[in-house]
Amino acid sequence: AYNRVINFGAGPSALPVSVLEEAAQGLLNFRGTGMGVAEISHRSKEFQTFLDEFEASIRTQLAVPPTHRILFTQGGGTAQFSAVVLNLLARYRLLHPERGADETVVDYVVTGSWSKKAAQEAARLGGARVHIAADAREHGGKAFDHIPAHGAYRFSQDPALVYYCENETVDGVEFSHDPASPASFPYHLLPQDTLVPLVADYSSSFMCRPIPRLADHAVIYAGAQKNIGPAGLTILIVREDCIVDVDAAARLGAAPVPLIMSYKTLADSGSLYNTPCVLPIYISGLVIARMEANGGMPHYEEMNKRKAERVYKALDEGEKAGVFRRKVQKGSGSWMNVVFEVLGEGAEKRFLEGAEKLGMKGLKGHRCAGCTCFIQIYMLIHGSHRAQIRWRLVALILL
Ligand code: PMP
Repeated sequence: AYNRVINFGAGPSALPVSVLEEAAQGLLNFRGTGMGVAEISHRSKEFQTFLDEFEASIRTQLAVPPTHRILFTQGGGTAQFSAVVLNLLARYRLLHPERGADETVVDYVVTGSWSKKAAQEAARLGGARVHIAADAREHGGKAFDHIPAHGAYRFSQDPALVYYCENETVDGVEFSHDPASPASFPYHLLPQDTLVPLVADYSSSFMCRPIPRLADHAVIYAGAQKNIGPAGLTILIVREDCIVDVDAAARLGAAPVPLIMSYKTLADSGSLYNTPCVLPIYISGLVIARMEANGGMPHYEEMNKRKAERVYKALDEGEKAGVFRRKVQKGSGSWMNVVFEVLGEGAEKRFLEGAEKLGMKGLKGHRCAGCTCFIQIYMLIHGSHRAQIRWRLVALILL
């Protein structure tokens, strides 16, 4: 229906047709109000109820503990590159009023282009020294093609934040959720004597599976446009102690924080300090409601695991046949973004053309400086049953 192709774009990405159909109705008449969702006041009780339900669903599906608030904002992951630094430096200043910028350090784990960008933004903002706790390019290869082994990490004693990106969208590198894996996050190496402000960018893997050790995180954030809905909405999960009075911190010398970036502003206003992105919230809410109706997180985790296994199996076979080369080392491969090279003169072009003939678009990977173009398969978490069939199709054209 609707002449839709199979869209593998990594973000914005495909949304379930049933949700888009429901959203089309909601654009005309939202929950019987006689007004469309893009026309109704964000302060109406109908929208407030929708927002409450959306938040409750995220809390249930991810088992977010009462120690953490769920906040909604705009500005994408990129705004959070700045906001996490500003808010957590304010927190640090309140805890240590005597420590200036030269005695404040923020730790970054760099595993790909997005965490690299986040570290660069921290350096731009100043207020702290940026310490690279691990850089995948310096340990075990020149490229962002793996998660560093635990021995490669050097965390600071008392950092104002520790930052990592759970899934590197462009590079296809993801932390393993198996604590026994060398590609897991080294929680045991973090300073043990403080409530470590651990920050994770979950933009491209949010809700594809449960978040391990969620309660040990200070801030988890995700732009909606990969897995949850349209671009415009950013979801934050913030531990209470990281929601601080940024003005009090500024009086002690911390950088002033724009009000709309302050987690306290968002928390105190129930994420309604100013007009929120009503439509992306609505569509994202419909996606999550559908996910719950289909069996929720356990069902999707199982399905996503199977999808990933199927695609990696096909890649393995293709590698044996000399057709493909995986970009990412074994054990560090993402469930969501599978990045590989099609080997041979003109092969990539043929592959992409072949895929397009089968109605599959958005497979061309990110072109970065100095590397070949890779194919990227982005695996939508909220895929329908038809998506399962598509996986078989993809596996077929892969070989
Ligand atoms: N982090 C990750 C992991 C991403 O994939 C992206 C977007 N591709 C961003 C951050 C930046 O997000 P946005 O475009 O929403 O600012």
